[in-house]
Amino acid sequence: MAIDSHIHLYPADVYHSPVAWAGPRDETYWLSCVNPSKGKSLQAWKTISELLHDMDAGGIEKVALLAWYWEFHDSCIENFSWQLEWLKMHPDRLICFAPFNAKGGQPALDLLESAFDAGFKGIGELNPPAQGYGYDDPVLDQALQLAAQNNAAVNFHVTDPTTRDYPGKIDTPFDSLLDLASSHLNTQFVFAHLGGCEPLRSEERIPNNVAFDTAVSPLLYKTPVYREFCDKVGIENVLFGTDYPLRIFPRDINPPNFLGPLVELRDSGLSAFEIEAITNSNPKRIFNLL
Ligand SMILES: [Zn+2]
Repeated sequence: MAIDSHIHLYPADVYHSPVAWAGPRDETYWLSCVNPSKGKSLQAWKTISELLHDMDAGGIEKVALLAWYWEFHDSCIENFSWQLEWLKMHPDRLICFAPFNAKGGQPALDLLESAFDAGFKGIGELNPPAQGYGYDDPVLDQALQLAAQNNAAVNFHVTDPTTRDYPGKIDTPFDSLLDLASSHLNTQFVFAHLGGCEPLRSEERIPNNVAFDTAVSPLLYKTPVYREFCDKVGIENVLFGTDYPLRIFPRDINPPNFLGPLVELRDSGLSAFEIEAITNSNPKRIFNLL
């Protein structure tokens, strides 16, 4: 059985009309990602029961259900309420990560406390440039300290600056992310999307409290980079993730599932031991599930 360390989910009243939902909340960045003005959207939508069905079909024991990186704290509150409901239904299958926006101030930190009390295991996905605050924001600093106190991991979106432009592409300076991790050594970080493959280009030392998830890599890299990437950052620091239900194989006309990304990973030249680490023992250790 495997663990997917990076998925998202929305209730039907959000995705039936993303425009009607995002409009009054001013969540324009999210809308630009799921409903781009140019080109076809890669976003697909699933219900909680479809998620559970796809997990069973793909041999996925648990998923890390990440919140979106909302621009407003009120949207974080809504996202938290969806996750609470789903977590109550499936506590054995979901690992919930709490929504957070530093602009929310103390109420944003209070929301994190409520989430940890409810059994959430992490914070994120965070994307400060998209959410309107800096990596040096003092409220973010407090959130990272709270994460450490609660043995919670924090997932940050990382953009690969070298890939083609796509809707919602935003700069996430790798130096700023490394500085943040270096100045919060007691906090476990997860840099999403293989850290934008920046570790393959950077000579900077990556601190021990940073792991990387593989979400969206089939879409970003035509030739899989898992072998090279794991050799560079260490197999113990890599987590299997998909960004389900995003269409990461856009030519596939079927709705997204977990099988495609698992097959790509298993065919990538990694050993059975390495696959087991990425899909099972690493997330269990990093998310404190043991
Ligand atoms: Zn994501």
